[in-house]
This record gives sequence, structure tokens and C-alpha cells, in this order.
Amino acid sequence: MQKTINDLAQLQDLTMAKAQQEASMSGTRLIQLDKSIEAMLKDLAPELRSRFTKLEAKGHIAIVPVSKSNVCSACGMSLPVSLVQAVRQAEKIHQCPTCARMLYYSDSIPRGTGSQKARRGHPPKIGIARFSSESLMIPQITSTTLEGVLTEMCQKLEDENFVENSDTLINEALKREAIVSTAVEHGLAFPHVRGVEGGGLSFVLGLSKKGIKFGGSPKTLTRIIFFVVIPTAASAFYLKLLSGLSETFRSKEARDKVFGAKTPKDLWKTLVKITKTTVR
Ligand SMILES: [Zn+2]
Repeated sequence: MQKTINDLAQLQDLTMAKAQQEASMSGTRLIQLDKSIEAMLKDLAPELRSRFTKLEAKGHIAIVPVSKSNVCSACGMSLPVSLVQAVRQAEKIHQCPTCARMLYYSDSIPRGTGSQKARRGHPPKIGIARFSSESLMIPQITSTTLEGVLTEMCQKLEDENFVENSDTLINEALKREAIVSTAVEHGLAFPHVRGVEGGGLSFVLGLSKKGIKFGGSPKTLTRIIFFVVIPTAASAFYLKLLSGLSETFRSKEARDKVFGAKTPKDLWKTLVKITKTTVR
């Protein structure tokens, strides 16, 4: 059953990738994705296929990890210990009694720290400031390879106390890139790790003037990289953030503006300004 569970998790990555490409309005790789999704669905047992499709239609999440504190990471409800044990044994596929999503157990769930939660006495954050901050801006990425860039960005999240351990994060991000590249048009890429436990939806922004080969089309280099960590419960919200950012950066003026920023402070100020109407 473990293989089926892995297949389901991968299938979900593909359907999310498709939703993501649609949100960023990048039509280029949709056909390839559709084909892979179709092939994987065909391999599933009919009963499982219809269960997956039904759940997937309700907000793109069909299979979710059980968190370390034994709660369903989609709906946040506590699960009975006996159920968690059964999920761990993986002899059959179990569902959350509350939200009906299929459950799996994973030892390699990256953990957020939750340290960026609003502190008492601080005004509530609005717009893009809910997801990032000046400390997560990298105006000039030094690495020149995909792995190097991901490492640099994950390290930033760890240094700034957004995640506990960047190693798991890097591995998961590379696995995700291997399924289908997160590079889209206009030199943008949205590498990400889903299913992060604890903490909120957050991103690091890194710029590379020279450009990096990020998979995707071999002709275009990636220059503007948003590395996003996504707690399961924030999946739908992530798509909104993505479509807002894509809308902003379709404009050449916006892309030129961020490259004009020399310091993290400038970059953050610029980003806040140019996303005012697109990320609310
Ligand atoms: Zn649930």
C-alpha cells in the first residue's frame, strides 16, 4: 500500500502543479502535466480514482500527512491514536473522520517555527507583509545552480527562524522540481515545499541578474525566484498569492523595479509598493 500512497501524493503534486500553472497563467506546460496526470489516474484502482478525483475537486487537497501532534494537517482535527497507528502501518488507505481526506504518515515533514505569528500589541499585517518581510529579501543571489539557489533560500528561512531545519526543506524542494519545473514565464520561478507543519505561509524572494537554468524552457533563464513554504491548510491561499505575484510581474516595469533595488530594505519596500493592488 505504501507505493499507492506515494503515487497518490505524487499525483496530488501534479494536480497542484497544474492549478499553480493556471494561477500563474502559464499555458506552456499544461499539456505535459495533463498527460502525466491522466496516466497516473489510469493506474489507480477505480474506487481510489473516484475518491481522489472527488476530494481533489474540493480545493486541490486529497491526501495529507498526519502531523507530529496527531492531527489531520488539512482540517486540524485531532485523530484517535489507533487511527494514527493504522495510518502508519499503511496496510490500507484511511481517511480523516472529519474532512474525509486520505491520510498518510511521513517522517520527513519540514517544520515551521511559527515565530512570525503576530505578536500582541503589533498592528495586524496586511497585503504581502503577511507572507514575508525585509529579512527574507535577497537582492543578489550568489549561487548559479538550481540546487545552490534552493539551498541559499532555504538557509535564509532557517537563519531567520522561519523553519527549524533547512535540510529537509531543500530535499523536498528538489523532489518537487524533479516532478515538473516551477519556472514560469518572464523569468519567474515559484519553487516551494508543501505540507510544512506549523508556522504560516511564507516566502523568500531572491534575484539573480545573470539568470539561472531552472528547468522549464531551456531558452529562458530564471531571474526572479519566490521560494514558498506552504502549510497544508494554506494551500488554497497559496494559489491566490501566486496569481497576485504573477499578475504584478507580468509587467516589465515591475520586473525592472525590483532589479533597481540594491539592499534588502529597498527590495522589500519596492515589493510592497508594486503588489499593493494584486496581493490583498
Ligand atoms: Zn481532516
